[in-house]
Amino acid sequence: MIQFIDVTKKYHDGTVALKGINLEIKQGELVTLIGPSGCGKTTTMKMINRLVEPSGGRILVDGKDISKINPVELRRNVGYVIQHIGLFPHMTIKDNVAIVPKLKKMNRAEYDKRIDELMEMVGLDPSQYADRYPSELSGGQQQRIGVIRALAAEPPIILMDEPFSALDPISREQLQDELIRLQEEVKKTIVFVSHDMDEALKIADRIVLMKAGEIVQMDTPDRMIRRP
Ligand code: ADP
Ligand code: ADP
Repeated sequence: MIQFIDVTKKYHDGTVALKGINLEIKQGELVTLIGPSGCGKTTTMKMINRLVEPSGGRILVDGKDISKINPVELRRNVGYVIQHIGLFPHMTIKDNVAIVPKLKKMNRAEYDKRIDELMEMVGLDPSQYADRYPSELSGGQQQRIGVIRALAAEPPIILMDEPFSALDPISREQLQDELIRLQEEVKKTIVFVSHDMDEALKIADRIVLMKAGEIVQMDTPDRMIRRP
């Protein structure tokens, strides 16, 4: 459903970030982009919601060239979870999630129910946490809210840019487990940027290994570890 065809990127300052990426991501697949800092993972990912425009090549989503899709329209179908999600500190958890347009359109009862469902999906008891403020949640719990906010818009595609890397090892493990469980349930197409091979091996359906603006290896986790 997402296709990169000979995609290159040269930034304004002359930095060549991508030298020609060819990649196909299937519907419902969780693909991890992995590689050393500066290899082009974030650039690749941000092209999918047009935060970065390619210098050459084409990107298709469901066969449609995304340069012809309005970015606002496109981002409605592409959820985005980043390292520090930045919840509004003066708003409760429920209100922070309710800023998603899809929820805003619902009546009170509908959206209360939906928020309960979403919180339960990521293992947060709504009766305990929905009316709390962000500062009353741990980093891992706040990050779960970031995942909920992305899910609430019901996008077919979700981009995750090292969403768990700022967390302590235990919270990170928990969120990885939850993502795996959640993915079994919702089957989104997920592009997950990571620099942690253990994380990639654990969560990914497929790992895309990048180096200096190129894809050097692309395989399932079990085949990846069997290779030298
Ligand atoms: P990664 O996510 O793998 O760390 P990035 O995609 O962020 O890599 O960056 C790839 C290369 O492009 C790096 O050399 C980086 O310094 C450069 N780069 C990223 N963003 C910009 C930008 N806005 N302007 C210029 N160079 C950039
Ligand atoms: P810039 O001026 O740096 O190019 P943009 O105007 O393209 O930034 O985007 C502004 C910010 O919007 C980005 O830094 C990004 O983190 C944020 N953002 C939040 N949600 C989304 C989303 N779903 N898709 C794209 N960008 C998003």
